[in-house]
Amino acid sequence: MSIKHLIKDYILQCKIRHLIKDQYGLLHSTELLLSIMLLLFIIATFANLSDSLNEKILSEEELRTLESIAIESSDYLLNNPGNPEDWEDDEGLENGIVSHNIIPGLAVKKKKMDNGEFYSESESEEMIMSNSISYYKLMKVKNNYDELIERNLLNGSYQSSMAIYPLKSKIGPLIIGNLDDNVNDINIAVVNRTVKCDYYSSFVVYDFNDFEMIDDDYDEEEICNHDTNPDLANHSNDERSLWLCKNFRVYKKSLEDYDYYLISDESVKSSNSYWILESLNRTNDDKERLNQEVIDLNPFFINDMENSSEEIYSIHFNVDKNHINDFKTVLVAIPKNMTNGLMSNDELKYDYFKVHDVNFVMKMSYD
Ligand SMILES: [Zn+2]
Repeated sequence: MSIKHLIKDYILQCKIRHLIKDQYGLLHSTELLLSIMLLLFIIATFANLSDSLNEKILSEEELRTLESIAIESSDYLLNNPGNPEDWEDDEGLENGIVSHNIIPGLAVKKKKMDNGEFYSESESEEMIMSNSISYYKLMKVKNNYDELIERNLLNGSYQSSMAIYPLKSKIGPLIIGNLDDNVNDINIAVVNRTVKCDYYSSFVVYDFNDFEMIDDDYDEEEICNHDTNPDLANHSNDERSLWLCKNFRVYKKSLEDYDYYLISDESVKSSNSYWILESLNRTNDDKERLNQEVIDLNPFFINDMENSSEEIYSIHFNVDKNHINDFKTVLVAIPKNMTNGLMSNDELKYDYFKVHDVNFVMKMSYD
């Protein structure tokens, strides 16, 4: 006799005893209601318990098969950019229309890596960074998990979940997928790999922390216009502070497609840093204290390019040598259609524009 049957019998007995009792005294309706609720609670609890007791424990053979499928799937995802090429830009994915032809891969494609950072697009079509995953692709998978992973990659026979846990970062973990909480742990195959995740580092135009300190100074690679123009204050390093200066070009047209931001770690507030943003045609000597984590630069560019189609800008930071490690700032250009998404996910933060080592964890069970 199964547990479910035993419970049903027990409940029936209780009910009968109750009815017998009722012959001798009037049962209040609230008491009746309470006892029905209690009965329903007991049924629900025991039904769940008996279900999980009845859940089949996988044989060694089944578990081995599941583990090898989980390993193969993870290796595929981490070492392939996916098919077709640039599947992550498929317009249907924005509207939940997922083609059966897309087999997602997470590997970063066409990027070179230098000192652990992605820094430029490679010309070679074959350039695939294995064990380096694209955060952008992972977000596309997150929003279309059922179709992309369970249907297209795993052919509908398995439940799964994926997660990335940054190893040294303020960024929280990202967990996606559909693995049912009720699946017994011993029936789940788990694959764990340490990989790099690019997050939004490809949007970085300039990383102002790319200088190398030698003793108390650094090699200035770019000449600052303030050093050659006698009308402007000199930007040579002194005892107390360093000047970090960069030039870059902005096209008016690119302001229609990109949002430019200066993004700093919160530590910048205690770095005692100052900054100047100027057009080379309209120079400026007034430095301003840098104490905001996010500075929207588009209003400045739009205003400055009222009568021109492009300008060269220079940005200058004056950083206190004693707080040089607190200065962490990047200039980013975010595609306009992504800005709102980043804002609502609280991702417009310095750490999201760096490459991080993460633990990639994939879990799988039979459906
Ligand atoms: Zn300068």
